[in-house]
Amino acid sequence: MAARMDLDGRPIKPMTICMIGAGGFIGSHLCEKLMAETPHKVLALDVYNDKIKRLLEPDSLPWAGRIEFHQINIKHDSRLEGLVKMADLTINLAAICTPADYNTRPLDTIYSNFIDALPVVKYCSENSKRLIHFSTCEVYGKTIGSFLPKDSPLRKDPAYYVLKEDTSPCIFGSIEKQRWSYACAKQLIERLIYAEGAESGLDFTIVRPFNWIGPRMDFIPGIDGPSEGVPRVLACFSNNLLRREPLKLVDGGQSQRTFVYIKDAIEAVLLMIENPDRANGHIFNVGNPNNEVTVRQLAEMMTQVYTKVSGEPMLQSPSIDVSSKEFYGEGYDDSDKRIPDMTIINKQLGWNPKTSLWDLLESTLTYQYRTYAEAIKKSMAKPTAS
Ligand code: NAD
Ligand code: UDP
Repeated sequence: MAARMDLDGRPIKPMTICMIGAGGFIGSHLCEKLMAETPHKVLALDVYNDKIKRLLEPDSLPWAGRIEFHQINIKHDSRLEGLVKMADLTINLAAICTPADYNTRPLDTIYSNFIDALPVVKYCSENSKRLIHFSTCEVYGKTIGSFLPKDSPLRKDPAYYVLKEDTSPCIFGSIEKQRWSYACAKQLIERLIYAEGAESGLDFTIVRPFNWIGPRMDFIPGIDGPSEGVPRVLACFSNNLLRREPLKLVDGGQSQRTFVYIKDAIEAVLLMIENPDRANGHIFNVGNPNNEVTVRQLAEMMTQVYTKVSGEPMLQSPSIDVSSKEFYGEGYDDSDKRIPDMTIINKQLGWNPKTSLWDLLESTLTYQYRTYAEAIKKSMAKPTAS
């Protein structure tokens, strides 16, 4: 492999990375990228490894020996500190990060996103190890604009909705709206990491992902996850399409999101890994401001793309409205709009997203169809117990 150069033209030394949550959606893509394109070694920690199994076996793979899986629950495993010490860099992805859990399992959500992340920060700080911590765009909460009267012309002014790492406030709903348990826990761990940087010299980078989507995200209920489970929107809508059910639009599908292709986003993470001088001490938004849609528009586009990919005709009523109380239960609330400001990541790392929403949905739904269509047909053909 030719020597890799950083953004300042210096050769990049191979490093050992302790990746916590490596078996998840983002972790699996990051492991794949690191194995295929870099000389770095990965200590992959997770409770599960299904999504990275392909990278771990067989021994004949070109990267054999550069990735090691450690089945560890970081809540209670004394091996964690030793693995952080063995690595040059720790990347923490481990979290409960599915909205259906935030209001129904707020304690697990807060423990997972704050308490369980604490020792990781502590071990990095005490051992002078670099940390890349995964936070969320949800720390911004609601936009300032959402509090303006519906007809206010200021709602159209980007100053009232574009989310900037260093100036936007974090605006959450009331405590009864337990949806915000996740955002609040993530905000506190960000503040703690920032304080470790300021007071103890911890070299850190915080990543705020804005709806990264693509293959291997979450699970399809009843196929590779619980039948009653509610994954994030990409998997919910994929599941509906595969089963030929209408897509469920929560509270009218009026919320807006910007979606970025996982492969674009992983490029940004690799730049952070390999350019510590440019990434340390920074919080980065990572998203695609050009891919904004309402959830209703997302449903329409996914329906069109799926029709193309599968060759199946569209349903007569492709979507239905459901209330958030019915879909998520008591205490749900929503982010109204999420447009990332890209100034900091652009200046520090020269990164820009590339893939349009249509293109990323086409490759993702092709993957979903190839991976799940047969299994779904079989499971739906099984007679149900009466
Ligand atoms: P994911 O659920 O697919 O991955 C998380 C992984 O962490 C899972 O494999 C899980 O088994 C593991 N994990 C959780 N608790 C653990 C524990 N106690 N010990 C060991 N492993 C544990 O989620 P993802 O989409 O890959 O997200 C990764 C990170 O990025 C999370 O911190 C999440 O909050 C953040 N994030 C992601 C997005 C996105 O768009 N995908 C958006 C905002 C924030
Ligand atoms: N949503 C929906 N139908 C579904 C799943 C999600 O309308 O079947 C909505 C949800 O209410 C939210 C948006 O889609 O407004 C994105 O939800 P996701 O779970 O992906 O996470 P979020 O972006 O809120 O963190």
